[in-house]
Amino acid sequence: MSVRENIIEFNHRLKNCNCRLIAVSKTKPVDLILEAYEAGQLDFGENKVQELREKPDQLPQDIRWHMIGHLQTNKVKYIAPFIYLIHAVDSLKLLKEINKQALKNNRTINCLLQVHIAEEAHKFGFEENELYNLLNSNELKSMENIKIIGLMGMATYTNDRDQIRSEFQFLKKTFDSIKKKINLPNVAMNEISMGMSDDYPIALEEGSTMIRVGSKIFGPRIYRK
Ligand SMILES: *Cc1c(COP(=O)(O)O)cnc(C)c1O
Repeated sequence: MSVRENIIEFNHRLKNCNCRLIAVSKTKPVDLILEAYEAGQLDFGENKVQELREKPDQLPQDIRWHMIGHLQTNKVKYIAPFIYLIHAVDSLKLLKEINKQALKNNRTINCLLQVHIAEEAHKFGFEENELYNLLNSNELKSMENIKIIGLMGMATYTNDRDQIRSEFQFLKKTFDSIKKKINLPNVAMNEISMGMSDDYPIALEEGSTMIRVGSKIFGPRIYRK
């Protein structure tokens, strides 16, 4: 199927649920992104700052660019003027820098906190106790140019569907508990970013509001990642 057909199919499938498609266009050329845009897709995800510095100028200005990958503090400044949502915030230091650069650009930047839900040790993200330490910290209270609008997670790369499901359930449970317990002006739990090409059907069943799908839309990438 073409990119255009894939976009139409995905958005048709999502029509009656509270979930948006983030089309992950990393490594893909702008003509394919344009094809998706012309099929009605507005949300695109990239995981490298370099690609986010090159692509937007060549594409329609109403595209909403999502940074879905690990973000280095020293690169926040390049995306701060335009980024729509940063999915993988995984430290207080990074959050502080995002707040600083957002202030410089006279805007508020929406963020998701990445939670470590996978069993692999190398995947980024906060552990549950670290998450609460951050959410209860005084430093967070003074950050007026960020808004934490939800959580993001990546399940273990495995064929064990039950394991993937229980990792997504853990993320949803954490989301619900933060929503209940944390009351701050710059925190509003609305979004759960979970699910990729191989596991998005499970993520949808477990309450995802943003699935990040790359290869099922644009075809396989030459480099995994
Ligand atoms: C690459 C990537 C995706 C999309 O992966 P696919 O398996 O191609 O759908 C989703 N989320 C993150 C964080 C990624 O880096």
